[in-house]
Amino acid sequence: MTALLPTLKTSRRSLVLGASAAVLAACGPQNRAEFVNVYSARHYDSDKRLYEAFEQSTGTVVRVLPANAEQLLERLRAEGDATEADLIVAADAGNLWRLQNAGLLQSATSSALEAGVPARLREPQGYWWGFSKRARVIAYRKGSVREQDVASMDDLVRPRFHRKLAVRSSANTYNLSMLASRIERLGADNARAWAAGVRANLARDPQGGDTDQIKAVAAGDAHAAIVNHYYLLRMMQSEDPAEREAANKVALKFPDQAGAGTHVNISGAGVAAHSKRREKALQLLEYLVSDEAQTLLAPLNSEFPIRTSIQPAAALAELGPFKEEDIPLEALGRRQTEAAAIFEQVGWR
Ligand code: FE
Repeated sequence: MTALLPTLKTSRRSLVLGASAAVLAACGPQNRAEFVNVYSARHYDSDKRLYEAFEQSTGTVVRVLPANAEQLLERLRAEGDATEADLIVAADAGNLWRLQNAGLLQSATSSALEAGVPARLREPQGYWWGFSKRARVIAYRKGSVREQDVASMDDLVRPRFHRKLAVRSSANTYNLSMLASRIERLGADNARAWAAGVRANLARDPQGGDTDQIKAVAAGDAHAAIVNHYYLLRMMQSEDPAEREAANKVALKFPDQAGAGTHVNISGAGVAAHSKRREKALQLLEYLVSDEAQTLLAPLNSEFPIRTSIQPAAALAELGPFKEEDIPLEALGRRQTEAAAIFEQVGWR
């Protein structure tokens, strides 16, 4: 029974919605609407299930406004302090950092949040908190590439992959965050050399999303691609037999297990800067990272639970445990601009 807020195109109309919600909230206690508004860039059934469970245990209705990350940012900017947003949910620390940097989130913390979310998977002042984890991995063509040839992201710049790589655009936050992590760990010169090496090995100009890169590998147009892990899992579980068949031709490698570990990112949430229901937003945020929610979410989610003590979905557990890169994710935000400049310099469009 999770309510869906109407998707409104203009800020003027959203202010109208804001006014009516404020009127609701101002009614007497006997008929005060107990609700919390979530602006979300994650559109998964798994999240709906979480919101429903929260509604059942608290009686607070979760109203969701879906949008992509860019729309969320624009809408929140346009709404300013008139916004009805309470909790903002987005994928990738880079996107969360952009929301924070635009002044659209507020610092919010509690002992439950601090106990629930590992320190490197959250913003130090509590502007955003991870509740789900994803890895950026190498998808490679079975039969064309040996697993040991993709042991590290550094392997992708070797001559054997000349004109054999597929990647999406550098404008994508996943790639910006990945390069930002390399700048943080190894410095800008290393990151530039690596990005130039990947650029030189591309089979085609960057195009499409991560699924398109996997399809290019399956078709033999490329031998390896950089993708988020869940895209291959989705294809493996697709209702479309052609997608399942393509996925079968591709294997997934968590790179850099002998080195720094695989680059990991989060889906996360933060309390809106101008939330009118801060306590409710915090309560929902605490719920998202709770054992109950994490255990409920895990089997429904193609991402990893935020804590290793919670077992991931069976398809993920099959991939086995892997070593994660150990850098604070707020660094990915700080380094976004630098990463974009390096991509530009090396011509990775
Ligand atoms: Fe994605």
